[in-house]
Amino acid sequence: MTDEAVAICDLKRFAADYAYKNEKEIMIESITAKNGKKVAVIGAGASGLTCGYYLVRNGYEVDVFEQEHLAGGVLAFGIPEYRLPKEVLAHEISLIEKTGVRIHLNTKIGEDILFEKIKQEYDSVYIATGTQFPEKIRIEGEDLPGVIHGINFLKEVNSNLKYSMQGKVIVIGGGNTAIDSARTALRCGASEVVVLYRRTIDAMPAYEAEIHEAVLEGVKIIELASPKRFVADQQGRVASIECIRMQLGEFDKSGRRKAIPVENANFTVDADYVIVAVSQYSDLPFIKKEEIGVTRWGTFVVSDQTLMTTMEGVFAGGDVTRGPDTVIQAIADGKKAAESIDKYLGGKGVLNKGKSIEIPGFADEDEIVALHRFPLNILQVEHRTKSFDEVVLGYHKLNAMAEAMRCLHCDRR
Ligand SMILES: Cc1cc2nc3c(=O)[nH]c(=O)nc-3n(C[C@H](O)[C@H](O)[C@H](O)COP(=O)(O)OP(=O)(O)OC[C@H]3O[C@@H](n4cnc5c(N)ncnc54)[C@H](O)[C@@H]3O)c2cc1C
Repeated sequence: MTDEAVAICDLKRFAADYAYKNEKEIMIESITAKNGKKVAVIGAGASGLTCGYYLVRNGYEVDVFEQEHLAGGVLAFGIPEYRLPKEVLAHEISLIEKTGVRIHLNTKIGEDILFEKIKQEYDSVYIATGTQFPEKIRIEGEDLPGVIHGINFLKEVNSNLKYSMQGKVIVIGGGNTAIDSARTALRCGASEVVVLYRRTIDAMPAYEAEIHEAVLEGVKIIELASPKRFVADQQGRVASIECIRMQLGEFDKSGRRKAIPVENANFTVDADYVIVAVSQYSDLPFIKKEEIGVTRWGTFVVSDQTLMTTMEGVFAGGDVTRGPDTVIQAIADGKKAAESIDKYLGGKGVLNKGKSIEIPGFADEDEIVALHRFPLNILQVEHRTKSFDEVVLGYHKLNAMAEAMRCLHCDRR
C-alpha cells in the first residue's frame, strides 16, 4: 500500500468511526414555548425563511408572505434545476414549515395586503424581498422580440422544464445569471450558445467552476466584447448584435482592469435569441420612499449591528439590502435579523439552535493535509444537455465526512 493509500484509509476510518458514534445523536430540538408575539416576514427566499425558522424556534408566531406560487425565491426561480433540484429545495422548505412557520403564497405585499396593515398587526417585520428586477443595458433594440432578460428567462424555464428554443443564443454578461442562462439555453435546445463579456474570462464574477463546466458543455465565450445595438430582421425580430471590441486599461476601484472600447473595430454576431444578464436590482414599491431610508442604489439603509431600517421595528436583509449577493449571506442576514428582532421584542437575542453536537478535533497530520481532495461525482458531459439532471452529484458519504474532518489550513494560503 502506498503512503497516500494508507493516509486515505486512516481518514476514512476516522470518518466512519465518528458517523457510527453520532448517528443517533443528531436530532432536531424542541421549540421554545410560544411567547404571544407575532412577526411578519416579507419574501420567502433564503433570507426570509431563515429568519422565520429561527423566530419560530424562539417562540414567536411567524407569517411569511410570498408573492409567487412557490417559496424559495432565487433558489426556486433563479438557480437552475441541474444545480439545485427543486425536490431538495421543497424538502428543506417543508422542514421549515414543520417547525410552525406559516407561508402565505400568492400574497404580494403592497397589492394583496398593504404594508401599513402588516405593520399594524405584527410586533415586528422582516423585509427580505431580494432583487427581483433585471437591470437593462439601455441600448437600441433591447425591446425587440427574441431579446430576453436573464432572470426572467431562468424563471420561465424553472417553471417549465420543457421550455424550448432553437438556433443561436447570445448571452450578455459574466456573472452567475449569465452562465446559468447559457447552460440552461443549451438544455432548452439551442444549437449554439455564446457568452459575450466585456472583460476577460478571469475577471468574470461567475464561479470559476461554473464557467469551466459551461465551456465543457460547449458554451463559447467571446471576451472583450460589448454590445452596441441589437439589430432586427425584416419581421422585426432580433437577428444580430453590433459589438464593440474592447481592450483592458487601468485598474478600477473594484481591482479589475477597466474595459475600454477599441476604435473602428466593431463587429457583428448573428443571434436567434439574446439573453441580457448584466445584473438585478430591488424595488420597494410597497413603502413610500420618503418614509424610510433608501440608499442611492435603491436598497434599504440598515444598521450594521441590528439590520433595523430607519423605520422602528422594521428590519431588512439579504439581497434587498446588499444588492445581488450570495445565498449564505442571505441566510446569515436572516439569522442576524432573528437575533435582533428577538432582542427588540424583549428577548436576549439568543437563538434556539438545538442541542449542541460534539465536533471532534480535526485530522492535522501533514500527509493527510497534503492529500488531494476526493474527486466529486459529476454527471458525464454527454448526458447533461439532454436533461436538467443534477450535474454535481457530490461525494460518497464517507468521503464527504473525511473532507470535512481535515484542516486544509486555508488560513496559511
Ligand atoms: C441566476 C442566479 C444564480 C445564482 N447563483 C448563486 C450561487 O450559485 N451561489 C450563491 O451563493 N448565490 C447565488 N446567487 C445569489 C443568491 O441566489 C441570492 O443572493 C440569494 O438567494 C438572495 O436571497 P434573498 O432571500 O435575499 O432574496 P430572494 O431569493 O430574491 O427572495 C426574495 C423573495 O421575496 C419575494 N417578494 C418580493 N417582493 C415581494 C412582495 N412585495 N410581496 C411578497 N413577496 C415578495 C420574491 O418573490 C422572492 O421569493 C444567484 C443568483 C441568481 C439570480
